[in-house]
Amino acid sequence: MTLFWHRRDVRASDNRGLAAAADEGDAVPVFVFDDEVLEHGNDARVRFLLDSLAELRETYRERGSDLVLARGDPAAVIPALATAVDVEEGTPSGSQTSSDDADRAHWNRDYTKLSRERDARVRLALERAGVARESHHDSQLHEPGTIRTNQGDPYSVYTYFWKKWRDREKPDPFPTPDAGLADREDLTPTALVDAADAADSDGEAEAAHVLDDALLADLPTIDDLGFEEPEADVEPAGTAAARERLDSFCEEPIFHYDEDRDYPAKEGSSRLSGHLKFGTIGLREVYAATESAMREARSRDEGSEGSEAQDNVETFQSQLAWREFYTQVLYFNPDVVTENYKEYEQPIDWRDDADELAAWKAGETGYPIVDAGMRQLRAEAWMHNRLRMIVASFLTKDLLWDWRAGYEHFREFLADHDTANDNGGWQWAASTGTDAQPYFRIFNPTTQGERYDPDAEYIREYVPELRGVDAETIHDWPELSDEERAEAAPEYPHPIVAHGARREQALAMYKRARGED
Ligand code: FAD
Repeated sequence: MTLFWHRRDVRASDNRGLAAAADEGDAVPVFVFDDEVLEHGNDARVRFLLDSLAELRETYRERGSDLVLARGDPAAVIPALATAVDVEEGTPSGSQTSSDDADRAHWNRDYTKLSRERDARVRLALERAGVARESHHDSQLHEPGTIRTNQGDPYSVYTYFWKKWRDREKPDPFPTPDAGLADREDLTPTALVDAADAADSDGEAEAAHVLDDALLADLPTIDDLGFEEPEADVEPAGTAAARERLDSFCEEPIFHYDEDRDYPAKEGSSRLSGHLKFGTIGLREVYAATESAMREARSRDEGSEGSEAQDNVETFQSQLAWREFYTQVLYFNPDVVTENYKEYEQPIDWRDDADELAAWKAGETGYPIVDAGMRQLRAEAWMHNRLRMIVASFLTKDLLWDWRAGYEHFREFLADHDTANDNGGWQWAASTGTDAQPYFRIFNPTTQGERYDPDAEYIREYVPELRGVDAETIHDWPELSDEERAEAAPEYPHPIVAHGARREQALAMYKRARGED
């Protein structure tokens, strides 16, 4: 028997590690709720995970198998399970195989520091238990380390990374296995504990003990895991929902992606981020869909001078490359989670006004576009990319707050929080990252609002106090007099800072950090 350990790949299709396990035969799929990982969770993400797991379990059941669920330290649970289903001892159903080589635990690699440390512990524990193991490259089209500069270094500039990424051949998706999965009856908690209990060695008796504590008879509720039903309206989870998103995006919006993706009032982006974070859909499947959109674009463009539709598809593909770029930045620089990537001469002298941070978090800064973004975050556990850039610039360059405070807040509320992307986005906005925005480029929130939400449609959706106010007044809000504001929208806050003055302070702060003062 083989074990397949699901982590950030809550799907049965286009799953490289699962395909390898099923190829070896009698694969036992397992998911372990790990309290150390859950510590970093939030209500929205845990809801998304549970719903995705419920669907995954159904997929296995339809194939006569099941998803084994456990809670505990994977370094104890995975070896105990591997021991329980050990071919040498006979499976719970008594089937035997003569090949030791088939007895292996498989999983797909993850690249954060926390996961790598955990996986090292699991590997060691499996080695001690005498269980072979194999990890697979799955969550990226091109694994960290495979795209390097001509000198062999990892890239720190996206543009060059992207060119190589684009030109490399891409792997095909893996089908959902319809054979090679273990029988459902063998995978009940009782059968698994009995199997480990039928032990004739200390290790197996210990395995039975671990499994007795760890195996779950059913999916836990969100409360069991220490979370609450999210207040946010979270994106539907699971592979079917991911495919629906992907299909509808590739039907038309992908051909306008370049023009529409910056306008938050439009449905211009794929909204696949939560699915890509949890791996409810495989990257190869997503890429294959974009390639078939590309073929459609070519036929649309035939006879016309330009290749607009193709450019749009390629711009979308380049976002998938941003994700892989930031994953490799994190992989080679695990400390960026807490440290600036870019070194300044002096530490940046951030301000730390608690009231201003609280106003930003609550969406009450008196800058309508900023507040709309911050309120979308709470309402949907998601925020449009343009808004992520605007609110991150506002926090770091208007409120002069350390980017880490913003990163923490995003982590607390986003359903799609991804360590690599979130960190990359924040460090970019704070001009401390790899491909950092130059420190002197500071978003003007008023101009951003006018440009990207000209009719204030998006702002009115998330800021009800401004629903009866015309777009011009909304965009001019920070410039209006107190009387004008009181008349137009008495409930909506006055601006907490003056952008012009804060911009000057930000420039001075970065210059000091650069040793130019
Ligand atoms: P689409 O535009 O449809 O893009 C498709 C996919 O490409 C996304 O789902 C995502 O996986 C990837 N992608 C797109 N833009 C980026 C980018 N700039 N960097 C890395 N990957 C990208 N993205 C996250 O997935 N998780 C985060 O926690 C996260 N935090 C961010 C924080 C800040 C401050 C900023 C500026 C950006 C952050 N992003 C994050 C990147 C981006 O905003 C989101 O990926 C995007 O808004 C998700 O919506 P979508 O799926 O419709 O994107």
